[in-house]
Amino acid sequence: MKFYSTNKKVAPLSFKEAVIHSLPSDRGFYFPEKIPTLESDFFKELNSYTLSEIGYKILTPFTHEDIPKAKLKNITEEAFNFDVPLKKIETGIYSLELFHGPTYAFKDIGARFLARCLAYFNESHNQEVTILVATSGDTGGAVASGFYDVDGVNVVILYPSGKVSELQEKQLTTLGKNITAVEIDGTFDDCQNMVKQAFLDKELNETLNLSSANSINIARWLPQSIYYFEAFKQLQNRDNLVFSVPSGNYGNLSAGLLAHRMGLPVKHFIAASNQNDVIPRFLTTEQYEPLKTIPTLSNAMDVSDPSNYPRLMELVNGNHAELQSVVKGFSMDDAQTLETIKSCFDQNSYITDPHGAIGYQALKDIMTADENGIFLETAHYCKFVSTVEKALEKPLSQPDFVSNLMSKPKKSITMSSSFKEFKSFLFG
Ligand SMILES: *Cc1c(COP(=O)(O)O)cnc(C)c1O
Repeated sequence: MKFYSTNKKVAPLSFKEAVIHSLPSDRGFYFPEKIPTLESDFFKELNSYTLSEIGYKILTPFTHEDIPKAKLKNITEEAFNFDVPLKKIETGIYSLELFHGPTYAFKDIGARFLARCLAYFNESHNQEVTILVATSGDTGGAVASGFYDVDGVNVVILYPSGKVSELQEKQLTTLGKNITAVEIDGTFDDCQNMVKQAFLDKELNETLNLSSANSINIARWLPQSIYYFEAFKQLQNRDNLVFSVPSGNYGNLSAGLLAHRMGLPVKHFIAASNQNDVIPRFLTTEQYEPLKTIPTLSNAMDVSDPSNYPRLMELVNGNHAELQSVVKGFSMDDAQTLETIKSCFDQNSYITDPHGAIGYQALKDIMTADENGIFLETAHYCKFVSTVEKALEKPLSQPDFVSNLMSKPKKSITMSSSFKEFKSFLFG
């Protein structure tokens, strides 16, 4: 399988090349040349598959020319080695808990797969790979954990100073070894732009073996489609299925659309966003108009110009009406997020994190009585404990993993959002 750039100005690449190059030089995003359709056997057998077996089946057609099947089996077993339980919350509403991985957020899935693909591709090379990643919160932790102590790989993580939670920051800044955290005086979009610029910088690319671990990387994006099948597997009543996806950079939602295109029976998706609502607005107005990023309580979704927008459009062949028929928009502000965390807990004794809460409320507002709704619970609420405590108006006890992490010393390099400064740091 080849992967083309959504801007179609550069030649298509193999999976391996697309993973290593990460971002095409024409500023597009890699996208599979052909979307495979699953055979009916897959759905007949689905109930007997584990998550890693689903991953193996789904990812084989995209990767088999570059990763031998036995190796892929290996990689998927190692990468997808935790539970993704579907919990019933109330009549017709389920939570797909994507936070049972090592960093308690769904980004573990993609990051763990990418880390193992890159390690495999690099086995025969002598030069170290430098992974650049911009994070709005959870990506960095997942990538740091996924790559920690992997031979021949250096990881540089950029994050917006003061705009990630304390726990998220600790996950980025306490590992050391091959992981370096760079604290940027700016927003996530600034961080993302610096990374994008680095990949387009000829001089840097000639000297360093750069690679990316952002959701733009095809090896992070593709595996995010597998838990939609996992959810479907666990669901009893599969009629009129609706997925509500808390969204920021739209990797998650576009991976859901990919699963849909591969044959997963879904009635529609919901793009559940906070006040950074460029996609919900686009759905109604057909105008794509990024505004200034607004900091919110669901900070992993504070993205005003989502990288995966071109992939979203590619998945509907550039057709706005088709996008409208498969994706409904929803957005809410911080006050409503706090109210939702409280009301969901009061009604169901279930604690949502600020991102999952938006997904939950979107179902409550949009779903009809004949539909079954699944919201993606993208992070463990403990990652945002002060917000959740504020919403519930009571202190919550911290699990051990949190107190252990909080006691470790933070190590970071501070920097302005100037690309020049970043570039000389990379050369240094
Ligand atoms: C990254 C993240 C999101 C947004 O996912 P996208 O793929 O960027 O849309 C939502 N919730 C949490 C907890 C996240 O870490």
